[in-house]
Amino acid sequence: MPGNPNEIKLVNNAMSNATRRKMMNFLSAGDKSTEEIGGEVGKTMLDFHLKLLQQASLIEIEEGIVRLSEYGKNFLKEKEEKGADKTADISQAKPIEITEVRQLLPCIADSSKFRVIANIAPPLGGTLKVLEPLFPRGKYSGKINALIIQKGEIITTVYGTGKVTMTMIKNEDEAKESLKNLKNTINEAITKGVAPAPREKVRVEPMEIYKYLPQTNCSKCGDQSCYTFAIKLMGGETSLDKCTPLKESKYVTNLEHLQVLANYI
Ligand code: SF4
Repeated sequence: MPGNPNEIKLVNNAMSNATRRKMMNFLSAGDKSTEEIGGEVGKTMLDFHLKLLQQASLIEIEEGIVRLSEYGKNFLKEKEEKGADKTADISQAKPIEITEVRQLLPCIADSSKFRVIANIAPPLGGTLKVLEPLFPRGKYSGKINALIIQKGEIITTVYGTGKVTMTMIKNEDEAKESLKNLKNTINEAITKGVAPAPREKVRVEPMEIYKYLPQTNCSKCGDQSCYTFAIKLMGGETSLDKCTPLKESKYVTNLEHLQVLANYI
């Protein structure tokens, strides 16, 4: 039974492919002949897929009959319990196109910058959750079915409906460039058909938090200064809602940034 890191790698590799996942699910209904499996998932590279599943100890093959191993059965059961595969399968997603940028509105936080609204087609729906690890500072929100991505000053929100908003954009060229990068990153993963691996945790520094606080040192949060508040926030000793000035409309973008950063503390 897989236990050491190399064996776990074999399992992860075996299950990273949509055809092999389909084979495992097909086998969960009972033993099958290689013919039946070929009829279900296609005959292309069938031997190769079977070999990888066998090497990972997920299946056993005897005289042309394929069955889930005990480990394979437990693996599927655990996955089902965790609901790990209940999100949309990336292998079903189609490459996206960015349709025209629809609006360029002045940014609430900084009138020299723009808030952009665009559309992607086809909409990504539930696949967005699977794409979260593609972006070092990306966070999927189930509440609004959207992927929120922070990169530098820009916050991009990709909704399951296909709508995309971007804040703190300098000009139309920057909007187009950022949208193009977004499209390429997503399409690369969709073309591979493999859900991205979990990302490494991004380190957030107190100065980065401080940068988006109002910096008025008003003490309404109970702390002497915004920097003290930033340090306490990092240590989990306070929460963003204690800084009530952040609720003012002029800080709406700052709050968006801080909410994204707070996910990485
Ligand atoms: S309430 Fe907000 S603005 Fe005022 S000191 Fe605290 S962190 Fe700074």
